[in-house]
Amino acid sequence: MNEKENGPEVEAEVTDPKEKKKPIWEHIKDSEKAEVEELATEYMDFLTKAKTERVVSDLTLEKVSQCGFVDLKGGSAVKRGGWLRHHGKLLGLFVPGKEDPLNGFNLIVAHGDAPRLDLKPKCVYEDSGLGLLKSNLYGGLKKFQWLARPLAIWGFCALKDGRHVELRLGEEPGDPVLTITDILPHLDRKVQREKRLADAFPAERLNVLANSKPLPKAKEKSAVKGALLKILENRWGIKEDDLISSELELVPAGPAREVGFDASMIGGYAQDDRLSVFCAVKALLAQKKPRRPLLAVIYDREEIGSYGSTGAESNFIMRLAAAALGAVGKDPSWNNVQVALAGSRAISADVEAAVDPTFKEVHDDLNSGLLGHGPCLVRYTGSAGKYGASEAGAEYMALIRRLFDEASVIWQSTLLGKQEEGGGGTVAHLMAYHGISVVDCGPPILSMHSPFEISSKADVWMNVKAQKAFFASA
Ligand code: MN
Ligand code: MN
Repeated sequence: MNEKENGPEVEAEVTDPKEKKKPIWEHIKDSEKAEVEELATEYMDFLTKAKTERVVSDLTLEKVSQCGFVDLKGGSAVKRGGWLRHHGKLLGLFVPGKEDPLNGFNLIVAHGDAPRLDLKPKCVYEDSGLGLLKSNLYGGLKKFQWLARPLAIWGFCALKDGRHVELRLGEEPGDPVLTITDILPHLDRKVQREKRLADAFPAERLNVLANSKPLPKAKEKSAVKGALLKILENRWGIKEDDLISSELELVPAGPAREVGFDASMIGGYAQDDRLSVFCAVKALLAQKKPRRPLLAVIYDREEIGSYGSTGAESNFIMRLAAAALGAVGKDPSWNNVQVALAGSRAISADVEAAVDPTFKEVHDDLNSGLLGHGPCLVRYTGSAGKYGASEAGAEYMALIRRLFDEASVIWQSTLLGKQEEGGGGTVAHLMAYHGISVVDCGPPILSMHSPFEISSKADVWMNVKAQKAFFASA
């Protein structure tokens, strides 16, 4: 077209949505500010206390039990809500709705596990006069981030006589911590500096410094190892062989912290995905008499591909649905479970990568999430060519957009980085297997999978709002 025939040219609208998007902080009313801070404090307390997937499950169970949730296997009437747990980790929650569960549940799934270092079943040894522990990677962590920093050990030891012992060190004030040593720069040329990053930090070098004082007046060679075993036995009643049936996890020591001169952000370990767990439980407990029945599941093993009996690859969602049907007097038959799940809608609640201003080139500007700009609705994950992705259908995306917009949720439509930068996945495809409509949604965070992940207080607050809107939807 030209100006003569069609009137003056209209200047094209700015197409970059980031130009127009305001941070949530600009939308928060004065009356809501205290609520944002209160929620952040509660969330940081949760992050500080829940350092393992087992404790995440324990604390959540304690909280919902206080609110009147009952064991779905216990046979008692479910009024407020019910729970189902598997192997002390995987936890499912149910809140009855006004509608028939055969029409489907509103479901939020998140994961309570996080990248960490486990100890190997046989881990104690002595070298150069020091007691050491051999670790094993769990999940996708950047190994160099775990060297030369204070670590705490959180252990769950199952003894042959059936007793359980909790071994914890490094979190209480006055506790000593553990650490993994790094080589000094003066001598790192051949062992690290001249190597590719992927080769410079072999997993087998992540050995944990455990002790240095030998047994008094000991003549044997392994007097330091012996001294460590004595401490384990005297303090926790654990013998070396008991470590074979223990879950010993090394995590960054210390509490979650406020970050920034303005204290607007939260720094802490395992916000992937305990942020989503915290929000989902908060949002679920806010629902008193929802229209549709609700389910929430806190999975384990997501960081290693969801395998195992406590992961999303297991059939737990079917057993949870069956228990929920039974709890409201419906026939929990195989067919009914399948019908109920196929009619269900889910949010796969997982954190998303926020744009890091220092590494902007890995993101597609138009489809990336900004910290403090609300939860990210991620239509598909996977890697190049949508490989391994569980893509949400157009109709389901429309439904979620409508729900969020009607509830005045500030949210972003994002994808995980540029197409050929890498990739990743969530548990979404394992929900889709049952015919469940599912989309990934969670706040963007910085330094994901590091010992100190960063979220925005505003995003945490907005994420609860988004999840409440989803749970409450008809
Ligand atoms: Mn995650
Ligand atoms: Mn992760």
